[in-house]
Amino acid sequence: MDVDDRCHLRRDILLTPGPITTDDTVRRAMQRDMGSREEAFREVTRAVRKKLLAVAEADQAWTAVPLQGSGTFAVEAGIGTLLERDDVLLTLVNGAYGRRIADIARRIGRRVICLEDAENRAHDPRALDGFLGEHPEVTHVALVHCETTSGLINPLQEIAAVVERRGRRLFVDAMSSFGALPIRAASPIDAIVSSSNKCLQGVPGVAFCIVRRNVLERSAGKGHSLALDLYEQWVSLERTGEWRFTPPVQVVLALDHALDMLRDEGGADARLARYWANHAALDRGMRRLGFVPFLSDDVRSPIIATYLEPMESSFEFEKFAELVRRRGFILYPGKVTAEKTFRVGCIGDIVPEDLIGAVQAMEEALNEMRCGARM
Ligand SMILES: *Cc1c(COP(=O)(O)O)cnc(C)c1O
Repeated sequence: MDVDDRCHLRRDILLTPGPITTDDTVRRAMQRDMGSREEAFREVTRAVRKKLLAVAEADQAWTAVPLQGSGTFAVEAGIGTLLERDDVLLTLVNGAYGRRIADIARRIGRRVICLEDAENRAHDPRALDGFLGEHPEVTHVALVHCETTSGLINPLQEIAAVVERRGRRLFVDAMSSFGALPIRAASPIDAIVSSSNKCLQGVPGVAFCIVRRNVLERSAGKGHSLALDLYEQWVSLERTGEWRFTPPVQVVLALDHALDMLRDEGGADARLARYWANHAALDRGMRRLGFVPFLSDDVRSPIIATYLEPMESSFEFEKFAELVRRRGFILYPGKVTAEKTFRVGCIGDIVPEDLIGAVQAMEEALNEMRCGARM
């Protein structure tokens, strides 16, 4: 099939989390105008908040606070609103997103310590336990659930158990895992941050923080920022049902529909199973082409896969990605610092056949570049 035919038949497949490939009906849900103060939109906002809590299996002690912007906006809002000035944040770092949390905390004048692991190593709960034992000043721990830098999955439950035992609080960046990998709102977690355009399969423009009510209540007047104050946003949503500032109305409509689709698919477990099937189809094909995964199997998630670039001098990622793009698939450049890599996302409204198609496109691109992937 030639390129133009394919484009007529089907949209581009985004293997770039995120944004991700969305269902037609998710984009169609945006085809209307709605006043942000209308009861109809307040109702949509209430429904979205409720559905987000359901995904996190959160009880009455929790609330979901949506925020305009990309995921980083909600991370910054969460750190700035929920940490007090005397708190000390221990950030677990094994990729760019852990590093970003530390940068945010530092930038807004919060005290931060980093505990760093290599980008291909999951955090070790026992090392954390020892570290917390030696650092009584640490009040909070920040963890990136799935480090999208590589696709590595950190052991959330084991780390939460250590944080709980040590009497500290946990802040979870679940940006690329929420809606697929299991994550339950429960102690010692204070806050879970994610956004609409990853595993929830909505469009970009809104993020959210699922947070303990009593923690939010304590943060009144403490936020570092006017616009990124989660407490103020929460109070407005509770009192009037309205967002503080112009909400991304259409994006929220799309998210509301996307959350219904998650439920109809069978919830996070079913979605995770589809992502694993996507990942398996991709990985089989990539290994057949000779590509070597950056991570060992025991730490890989099905969210995104990272492969080493082939050693051949004829391989050039920009060119490779362009050749693959012409065939209808958008790849992601690498983000790990230690090696030259590239990434292929497995999330979004895609199925194993799409990943098989992507592998075929990559094979054709390699042939066109006269380059095998073998190391
Ligand atoms: C995507 C992502 C973010 C936020 O990125 P934005 O570009 O601001 O949406 C943060 N943390 C992780 C782990 C992510 O995957």
